[in-house]
Amino acid sequence: MTADTLFSKIVKKEIPADIVFQDEHVTAFQDINPQAPIHILIVPNKIIPTINDVSSDDEAILGHMIVIAKKIANQTGIADKGYRLIVNCGEHGNQEVFHLHMHLVGGKPLGRILAPPAE
Ligand code: AMP
Repeated sequence: MTADTLFSKIVKKEIPADIVFQDEHVTAFQDINPQAPIHILIVPNKIIPTINDVSSDDEAILGHMIVIAKKIANQTGIADKGYRLIVNCGEHGNQEVFHLHMHLVGGKPLGRILAPPAE
């Protein structure tokens, strides 16, 4: 059995979060430390630690995460101006929580996806 993660506990409502959407496959909730006016995390209900751990069995759930991201973008009014979906992976990707999650970020101009390299 896979050990629980911070986000699997949120999925099971064992720890509090501001959940904006949940169905049998995915859960979406407000990021606790938002980096933009809209910053929502969309996670598979099942634990997949990182993108490196996905298999072809996960294709439907990963596609569903994008469909839900689109719906939430519409509901929060950021769809027309645009937004960014981010999935960090591993050490170089700066992943902090090892339960795969998609950041839905928007509500202001987001600039380039990567900061210029430090001098
Ligand atoms: P990442 O660096 O891609 O792993 O992002 C992890 C994200 O989880 C960060 O944006 C955190 O602010 C967010 N986060 C951490 N703990 C919580 C929590 N308890 N509820 C909601 N978001 C959280």
